[in-house]
Amino acid sequence: MRRLTERRLVIATHNAGKLREIAELLNPFGIETVSAGQLGLDEPAETEETFAGNARIKAHHAARQTGLPALSDDSGIVVDALDGAPGVHTADWAETPSGRDFPMAMKKVWDLLEERQAPFPRTARFVCTLCLAWPDGHDEIFEGNVEGQIVWPMRGTRGFGFDPVFLPEGESETFGEMDPQRKHAMSHRARAFAAMVAACLA
Ligand code: IMP
Repeated sequence: MRRLTERRLVIATHNAGKLREIAELLNPFGIETVSAGQLGLDEPAETEETFAGNARIKAHHAARQTGLPALSDDSGIVVDALDGAPGVHTADWAETPSGRDFPMAMKKVWDLLEERQAPFPRTARFVCTLCLAWPDGHDEIFEGNVEGQIVWPMRGTRGFGFDPVFLPEGESETFGEMDPQRKHAMSHRARAFAAMVAACLA
């Protein structure tokens, strides 16, 4: 396992919600972060069918282009009664000709669950795969999950993406309602991040 000794890291995402959460998680480590968006990097096509495959594409792309180590996040929501969909295609389900529409994507998930008369609780998990890649081609992969269920109607205006319909196991608030610090204590991203810290930063 390679340790991160560089003090400057590219966050290989153009997603404002992920960027905010990753920057908050990295805050205590005194690492200067710069985002792919700030550097004007383009977004590579996510052509793989696994979270790890797509995380690798994004991190290596940014590391090669900048000569700096890069951290990417590929994540999504896996719904059991939809055979794992939307999964690696979570962001795609929100695409419209005029940008991403997450309320529409969440409704699509709920409507499909209704159509299939899926039993309650409608179990699901958020999955996050982080890839830390160096310009020489080396990488390390870390994964985290959080179990929960899809609820309807949407609840809360915090967070991003599918947060308003995800109720984590044992909790009374959705990720959309929850204080961000509480989400950071249990989220898929925080768990993957903790694994990376233990291996590469601690
Ligand atoms: P991608 O990794 O860029 O392909 O996109 C993953 C998508 O999964 C995001 O656009 C969000 O819709 C969703 N997602 C991932 N993590 C979270 C989260 O913490 N909260 C809500 N939605 C998330």
